[in-house]
Amino acid sequence: MFYVRGNKADYDEWAAMGNTGWSYEEVLEYFKKSENFSEPLTKENKKYHSKEGYLNVQKIEAAHPFEDVIIKAATEVGIKHLNDINGANQMGITRSYSTIKEGKRHSTARAFLSPIKDRSNLHVIKNGFVSKILFHPKSNKVSGILIQKDGKEIVVHAKKEVVISAGSINTPHLLLLSGIGPKEHLESFNIEVKADLPVGENLQDHVFFPTYFSTPTEHKFNTLPAITTAFSEYILTNEGIYSDVNPHRIIAFVNSSDPNAVSPEVQCHYLVLPPKIANLIDILGLHNLSEEVKNKFEEINENNSVIVVYDVLLKPKSKGKIMLKSTDPREYPLIYADYFKDPDDLNVLIRNAKKYILTLENTETFKQFGLKLNWLDIEACRGLDKGSDEFLACIAKEMTFSLYHPVGTAKMGPDGDKTAVVDPELRVRKIKGLRVIDASVMPSIVRGNTNAPTIMIAEKGADYLKKFWLKEHSE
Ligand SMILES: Cc1cc2nc3c(=O)[nH]c(=O)nc-3n(C[C@H](O)[C@H](O)[C@H](O)COP(=O)(O)OP(=O)(O)OC[C@H]3O[C@@H](n4cnc5c(N)ncnc54)[C@H](O)[C@@H]3O)c2cc1C
Repeated sequence: MFYVRGNKADYDEWAAMGNTGWSYEEVLEYFKKSENFSEPLTKENKKYHSKEGYLNVQKIEAAHPFEDVIIKAATEVGIKHLNDINGANQMGITRSYSTIKEGKRHSTARAFLSPIKDRSNLHVIKNGFVSKILFHPKSNKVSGILIQKDGKEIVVHAKKEVVISAGSINTPHLLLLSGIGPKEHLESFNIEVKADLPVGENLQDHVFFPTYFSTPTEHKFNTLPAITTAFSEYILTNEGIYSDVNPHRIIAFVNSSDPNAVSPEVQCHYLVLPPKIANLIDILGLHNLSEEVKNKFEEINENNSVIVVYDVLLKPKSKGKIMLKSTDPREYPLIYADYFKDPDDLNVLIRNAKKYILTLENTETFKQFGLKLNWLDIEACRGLDKGSDEFLACIAKEMTFSLYHPVGTAKMGPDGDKTAVVDPELRVRKIKGLRVIDASVMPSIVRGNTNAPTIMIAEKGADYLKKFWLKEHSE
């Protein structure tokens, strides 16, 4: 997974909203706490990096020659080449850091849970489904949780408190099912209201649309000999393309409204896809795009290498929400993403695409490799002048993707913030003995991928727990 921390301004904004303890300087220590940085620590980078943590953070070196082509072309359109996206400056293009160890994804489970799995005070229930938060009778004090497993219900009692970390969709779902949420909404399902709070509101996500550049290429990547060679290389050395856990390593942060800006409006992701990859992985189908889009992409990819550039909106003004569909915990909640509800969001994407993405076609570097802009010929956008604002808006609406970064649905905020679900120490308001520690507490979305910030929130949340239970309430 990409390891990107976002922008300093993200956390300073959280602190400015009244969230004491969450400014950039304060959260930096918590990013460092979990990091095992693969590069040497130097005078310049040691402010930002550490080798003491559980989580391996490293760069994968070039897996495809086109990656250097992309970086060179990007500098031609005015994007600076940057080494460390998590250091002093976030603006520019770079090969990203990822969470990888010995050629395998270093997930949070592998990094943080595996080393402590034998602790006598740690019990992990696998494949358990939490269906409800339980309360002491006639009170708003949490007593435990209800788990469904193998057709049985298990009650887990909490002596101290319960921490919910079910993510930005399922945390609000569980809170709503348990009577914590907007009063009217809960009452419409006859759920007893434990706390009237704006759970599920404030949903923010990173929405994007893709652009394709293609060049004719002989297809040898997915032939049997190529697959066998790559597979053997991986088994024997843990290296090669199969050790590459990410198809898109190159990312850029840009701001077309101000060339000197220190915080970006848009993140570009650059993917290099060999010919016929569409036959191997139904990328577009996985994202729920139409048959038409899928077929058009397959046509382009048939005999061409394709560079896909994502134009990702980092600070959307549009906000969505999560609501209950039913009181059955197994029924998915309703997700109203509301992408592009605020027209400014489309405008920012279009402006940045025109300045930093479409212009790649005219660079000497792309010309040298015969890389041409190749719009999918989608019926809805046919007849519009290609490259015009109207056309780009149409493409963005027809080919809307999520980068899967939902946040904010159990928003953190200070006393008096009517939009907040948890306080700055992540305790659920109006409830005793319940915290939320996951991406849902972010008051506003960060300008970067959300995994590293969520891990930082977890580190900080763990310290709040320790501070409270070890010092103030030691038994
Ligand atoms: C396909 C994909 C790719 C991504 N790639 C990147 C990337 O490269 N870099 C990056 O920074 N971010 C990436 N993200 C985003 C990143 O994964 C999230 O921001 C991050 O995982 C959020 O962490 P979380 O703890 O809030 O939620 P989650 O990681 O979703 O964890 C919630 C956990 O709770 C469990 N759960 C939920 N409900 C229940 C229940 N009722 N009972 C029991 N368990 C439950 C879930 O199974 C899950 O294990 C990606 C997301 C997706 C979907």
